[in-house]
Amino acid sequence: MPKVDELDKWRRTHYSSDIAPNLDGKKVTVFGRVTSIREQGEITFIIVQDKCGILQITVKKSKAPKKVLDRIKDLNEHSILGVRGILKSIDKAPHGAEVIPSEIKVLDFVRKSLPFNPYKRELPSLDKRLDVRALDLRRPKAQAIFRIRNAILWSIRKFLIKKGYLEVNTPKIIASATEGGATLFPLLYYNREAFLAQSPQLYKEQLASCFEKVFEIAPIFRAEQFDTLKHLSEAISVDVEEAFVNYEDSMKLLEQLVCNSIEFVNKECKEDLDILKHKIKKSETPFKQFTYDETINILKSEGLDIEWGEDLSTISLKTYSEKISGFYFIKDWPTSLKAFYINPKKGKPEICESFDLMHGSLELSSGGTRVNTRKILETQLEMKDLDPEQFEYHLKTFDYGMPPHSGFGLGLDRLILVFTGLENIREVVLFPRDPTRLTP
Ligand code: ATP
Ligand code: MG
Repeated sequence: MPKVDELDKWRRTHYSSDIAPNLDGKKVTVFGRVTSIREQGEITFIIVQDKCGILQITVKKSKAPKKVLDRIKDLNEHSILGVRGILKSIDKAPHGAEVIPSEIKVLDFVRKSLPFNPYKRELPSLDKRLDVRALDLRRPKAQAIFRIRNAILWSIRKFLIKKGYLEVNTPKIIASATEGGATLFPLLYYNREAFLAQSPQLYKEQLASCFEKVFEIAPIFRAEQFDTLKHLSEAISVDVEEAFVNYEDSMKLLEQLVCNSIEFVNKECKEDLDILKHKIKKSETPFKQFTYDETINILKSEGLDIEWGEDLSTISLKTYSEKISGFYFIKDWPTSLKAFYINPKKGKPEICESFDLMHGSLELSSGGTRVNTRKILETQLEMKDLDPEQFEYHLKTFDYGMPPHSGFGLGLDRLILVFTGLENIREVVLFPRDPTRLTP
């Protein structure tokens, strides 16, 4: 077994991306993981990957110090290296320069054969990759996905904060359902029953009454039994809530937010999009809007057997999406299909002020104008077989003056699917949770 060196006082001076031919002769300290070792005559080329890309270490047997030769003698792929040396410009090397080492530290080496090689083309199934996700995440494609995810998060935060929204954190251990009772994960909270939050809905409404414009980016937990490519048991939701606006304003804001993120990612993540071989198409603005009624009529004319008041099935959405490209809204849904806190339309209470943002057949977001009076909330809770008493902690805030308000919840993981052109939501989540997966 090779000896493992200590990090000691070594600190990085350059990332792979900092390396350039004009630094010829510069002393550098670099770190990373060995992705390949190639012998060519008396020269050994070691390719090292760090967080920014790859760099080349070149060891000439006749010139290298003995301690360097000793350290690379039984080096294997995937080992962790620290290298001190001099940069030498050379056309053929990545970034136009190679590191000629004067000292090498092996900070760790591979102790077991890997279940798969993340740098090779042939890969096992997603399920097998997820079992050893920390290894899978070394893949350049996986790294590209999560850099894009990071860029989207950053662009959303920047966009909302610039517009005066306050970022908030609401409790994830809660006492009652927000979306209906069936999809909650129960847990023991000291000696009482509690649940993991399905959404921050009620809290963000209360907070909109205090701060007017709020947003939260946090997990939502759904205990649904599903086996689809678009559902997770734990997903990240971008929740926005605002006072003194209605659902038309929320749709406008959501549209701006999505377009802003597309622009940002297209500008900042060109290389990562290339790695994924994906182009994010800019949708025409304003996004198309269809009412639920229009949608049903179109689906009927397509020969689908669907009645007013039914939810849109996967088949309906597939059929519908073949007719529309890019992002679009379906709005004015039947009140019975939406949550109790969505405001019924004046003079037409069977329809509510609601919308879904869609991309193809994928629902990305749901939103709407919220009910603003306690009495209607109580009635609608009862209509959904929920017990108003369970919601007293929330309902009472409506007794003390509540501004009209509106908002939406946007599924971040689904948005990332659209931005990366991938199909399975598990690919864009570091450690996904679904009914069959609780580890790693
Ligand atoms: P669906 O009908 O697709 O299950 P939903 O209507 O139940 O979604 P909402 O309660 O409207 O979901 O949540 C708002 C957004 O959060 C959804 O549009 C979606 O983008 C995201 N979302 C909700 N549930 C999940 C989930 N289980 N996995 C991933 N994303 C989800
Ligand atoms: Mg929805």
